[in-house]
Amino acid sequence: MAIATLIFGMFAIADYQILGLTRAYYLLVAMRIVVVGLCLFLALIMLLRGDVSHEVWLHAMPLWVLATGIILIVPLRPDSLSTQVMAVIVATIGFYLLIPNLLTVVAFASLYLSLGFLAAAALFADAPPGALLRLALLLIMANGVGFCALLRLEKLQRRQFSLLHDERDQNRQLLKEIAHRELLEEQLRRVAERDSLTGLNSRRHFMKLADALLQVSREDQTPFSLFMIDVDHFKRINDTWGHSQGDWVLTRIAEICTQALRPTDVIGRFGGEEFVVALPDTDAEQAVIVAERLRRKVAALPLEEAMSELQLSVTIGIAVARGDEVSLQNVIARADRALYAGKREGRDQVVACAEIGAEKRAEDSLK
Ligand code: GH3
Ligand code: MG
Ligand code: MG
Repeated sequence: MAIATLIFGMFAIADYQILGLTRAYYLLVAMRIVVVGLCLFLALIMLLRGDVSHEVWLHAMPLWVLATGIILIVPLRPDSLSTQVMAVIVATIGFYLLIPNLLTVVAFASLYLSLGFLAAAALFADAPPGALLRLALLLIMANGVGFCALLRLEKLQRRQFSLLHDERDQNRQLLKEIAHRELLEEQLRRVAERDSLTGLNSRRHFMKLADALLQVSREDQTPFSLFMIDVDHFKRINDTWGHSQGDWVLTRIAEICTQALRPTDVIGRFGGEEFVVALPDTDAEQAVIVAERLRRKVAALPLEEAMSELQLSVTIGIAVARGDEVSLQNVIARADRALYAGKREGRDQVVACAEIGAEKRAEDSLK
């Protein structure tokens, strides 16, 4: 807008060449100064206001001021009508192309410019009817071209905007979907890692964690022990008090294990009523003490009145990893053998696997 008005002002040079320092020239210059001043003032307001996209009048005002300036040239310099026609056509097309998205505002301003110019040509420039008709047709053509071009531009911009909107919507949807999937993945992982009844590690997850602990123990040359815990005569508990009571017993035993063991120990539910514990940095002697404590705690578990007759007990089999043992499965198998030895020998006891017993016997004989 500033550039357009400055060009409008610069025509004062051409006026001077044609009119010289005459009264008509001063009037023209004064009019041009007012138009340029007003337009620059409006441009400044727009600049200071920032976002003026919704203030239609601010867009319309400079167009009307500029149009008035162009129309006023006719009475002030009636001889220049033929060159003014060019200026009006350029201004009309300029209005349409340089002010997008405000088709109505631009159309009214252009219509005002065209009609005002035609009226001025008829009143002040004594243009014959034939010339006025040609002028009118030219202006209709300029308005038509400008109007159609702006209409098309607006349509394109609207389509572009709606596509942008769709894309944003899709992106938002996609982000939501990703967040939902991440949540599901997290839930799935939790389900896979946790036993739903006791909240302990699932067998699979236990194997992963315990295996990592075993490898660390082997590298650090620290002892590693493992318990296999089996509830004695659990089937009888189910048969006598029902499965829900059986579940309750399993949950309480899981709690006892969690409370009685160190946070560094890894506890898992191995199967139905079997639990498994990996104890890093724990040798055979310490393992037996810990297992005994656990066994006693289970035996002392306060039971509901309905189950007062129940003698709850567990048998615990212990195995210790050998110096450079890498297979967790082997350690588990030895703990399992110890557990079944305990079952055979009457249950409710802690049994260390045969190798530990042999080692201990060798140590004792040395002493
Ligand atoms: P033992 O002293 O030899 O270990 O005898 P047991 O009865 O404890 O052993 P057995 O393997 O014969 O029975 C285990 C029972 O545990 C059988 C099964 O129905 C029950 N069980 C397995 N999982 C669950 C469970 O999640 N909840 C309940 N309530 N019972 C279960
Ligand atoms: Mg069992
Ligand atoms: Mg059992």
